Amino acid sequence: MTAAPFTATILGSPRIGPNRELKRAVEKYWAGNSDRRELESVAARLRRDTAEALVAAGLDSVPVNTFSYYDQVLDTAVMVGALPPRVSGITDDLDRYFAAARGTDEIAPLEMTKWFDTNYHYIVPELGPDTRFTLNPTKVLAEVKEAGALDVPARPVLVGPITFLALSKAVDGAHAPIERLDELVAVYAELLELLDDEGVGWVQLDEPVLVTDILDNTAELAERTYATLGGLTKRPALFVATYFGELTDALPALARTPVEAIGVDLVAGGVSAVAAVPELATKILVAGVVDGRNVWRTNLESALATLAKLLGLAKHVAVSTSCSTLHVPYSLDAEDDLDAALRSWLAFGREKVSEVVALSRGITTGRDAISAEVAASNAAVASRRSDPRLTNEQVRSRISSIAAAGATRGPAEARRAAQQERLGLPVLPTTTIGSYPQTSAIRVARAELRAHKIDYAEYERRMKAEIADVIRLQEQLGIDVLVHGEPERNDMVQYFAEQLDGFFATQNGWVQSYGSRCVRPPILYGDVARPEPMTVDWISYAQSLTDKPVKGMLTGPVTILAWSFVRDDQPLAETAAQVALAIRDETVDLQSAGIGIIQVDEPALRELLPLRSKDKEAYLKWAVDAFRLATSGVSDTTQIHTHLCYSEFGEIIGAIADLDADVTSIEAARSHMEVLDDLNAIGFGNSVGPGVYDIHSPRVPGVEEMATSLREALNAVPAERLWVNPDCGLKTRKTDEVTASLRNMVTAARAVRAS
Ligand code: GLN
Ligand code: ZN
Repeated sequence: MTAAPFTATILGSPRIGPNRELKRAVEKYWAGNSDRRELESVAARLRRDTAEALVAAGLDSVPVNTFSYYDQVLDTAVMVGALPPRVSGITDDLDRYFAAARGTDEIAPLEMTKWFDTNYHYIVPELGPDTRFTLNPTKVLAEVKEAGALDVPARPVLVGPITFLALSKAVDGAHAPIERLDELVAVYAELLELLDDEGVGWVQLDEPVLVTDILDNTAELAERTYATLGGLTKRPALFVATYFGELTDALPALARTPVEAIGVDLVAGGVSAVAAVPELATKILVAGVVDGRNVWRTNLESALATLAKLLGLAKHVAVSTSCSTLHVPYSLDAEDDLDAALRSWLAFGREKVSEVVALSRGITTGRDAISAEVAASNAAVASRRSDPRLTNEQVRSRISSIAAAGATRGPAEARRAAQQERLGLPVLPTTTIGSYPQTSAIRVARAELRAHKIDYAEYERRMKAEIADVIRLQEQLGIDVLVHGEPERNDMVQYFAEQLDGFFATQNGWVQSYGSRCVRPPILYGDVARPEPMTVDWISYAQSLTDKPVKGMLTGPVTILAWSFVRDDQPLAETAAQVALAIRDETVDLQSAGIGIIQVDEPALRELLPLRSKDKEAYLKWAVDAFRLATSGVSDTTQIHTHLCYSEFGEIIGAIADLDADVTSIEAARSHMEVLDDLNAIGFGNSVGPGVYDIHSPRVPGVEEMATSLREALNAVPAERLWVNPDCGLKTRKTDEVTASLRNMVTAARAVRAS
């Protein structure tokens, strides 16, 4: 406990490798094309490169144990002996770990869900009545030793016990995980003692759950846990890190415990919460002033001002990122397509480390020591403020005038009648969610286009051939409302971002989404505008091939925001409205091209829900407003669909109704139609297509099983408002699975229709 305070650090770093080396190594191992030794050597090299780079950049405390083969929450489950019994028969520890993460032919994987309000997904530990916590310190000790051998001032990072339990799920009738806090804290106590024996000076315990309302006695749990761990006589110095939001009463509660350091996110929260806690005067405050989860360069001038205010409030102030830089790409160095202005506004992982180091020098040796850095930061701020791409007056004034006129449509009942008159669909119409299998021919065509092996005309020809196949298939199957299959889209956000002003697509800006899966979110930096139609040619082509209606397919404004790095210089609501306007223009153009049904997907509606209850209403309001702005430009005879998935809908059910889409297709196969009761409970009166089968599995669902689902749905929704569709898009499935499943789906719909 005599560890010297540190001055410059980050809370964690990306681990997938600057060129996704870990992804490739892990996938090779999974495919059976490499052995454990090869995988471990790639991993060790990445850990070493990371730690050495952080030391070289000037951090005096370096996070370790932030490496993971899959996920840090799963690592924690292993560390406390909480893997589910169904994997315990697998003797090799690495294979057991991967089985828990991904499943095997016989074993179902653990669930996966979003890490707070980020796009990272963690593995949800299952705690049953027979789960006995036991310490397995192998990984953390090995990483500590490895860093020690490299002379790295290592600070092991652990998911804290409160957060671990809050994110776990009870199974087999076990009590709520959080009730087992004392038991788990005892295991952490044992670990802290071991780490002390290893000569570890500092340990970081991550407790982001303390900034949320997930638990209802957060402050009390924080105080109890850290009074216990802080009260141990043999332990390293403790640093409790919190991030993604502001601590309320948990901050004084933590400050009353004997922990040495507390980390606060000063990007998400302000100085005043810190100033209100006099107990911090005896603590080290780890000030998260550099945004760890978005890509913007720090305004050093204002960060210095924040730090100056903090200096008087705590015993010592250390500079840090607001959270782990896991959520941003490795480095700007890998981008050679960026114009100089845009580059100057950005900071990825490596650049953020430099900012931390500069700020720490600024507060220890004085501002003059970093005058060059401050000047560069000021120049970037000025250039960003004055860049013409940031404001598009025409877009802004169009939004105001549409809002003033009211972005509404006619009454839902009248719309349904008008649409039915135009479309003449049977009861229980069948449709799909948009994508069809991304075949290897599609991937090859995309790769060849990128490598300039084929020209755009050839690419277009091949995509049209795919569309023709998909239309033919749907006609053969007898589906009522067809789709073009989305072959031309690599990703439902990127595809639109590439065509809109105000977005920039990186070349190598990969971030881990889950396990070995990485995404490359576009950067939304300026006012959004749509220079020309984005989907009309593809959809019109599809419609030209059939007499059945073809549904136009667009991504909604909230989802586009959720899966991008968004600008931080204006409220999200304003940015959402601009994206919505672009989508609105597209719906109007689709309508003019004769398309009678348009789907605006919002699978991420639940994702952006704020962590604090008090902020939820305001979010849902602007999210709904954006959707309505996007979908109210068309006439009442044009049918608007939306699609939602990946979530518990409970908290957003009212917002789903407020979207006022004519038809809502919604994931329901796994939650057995409960969503319909929830919708009924709030008086939802529009049409709904609860997914009748789960597309996440290769299994072909039987006719009878889907017919049963439909009959169940008919108990909640009258036939004239019920649609028949799968849970989600089909792009990850194989063509023969899709064909067999949809054939059964159509047969089931016909059978139920007849009765
Ligand atoms: N239209 C998209 C598709 O079918 C929807 C994807 C999603 O819900 N995530 O792929
Ligand atoms: Zn979906």
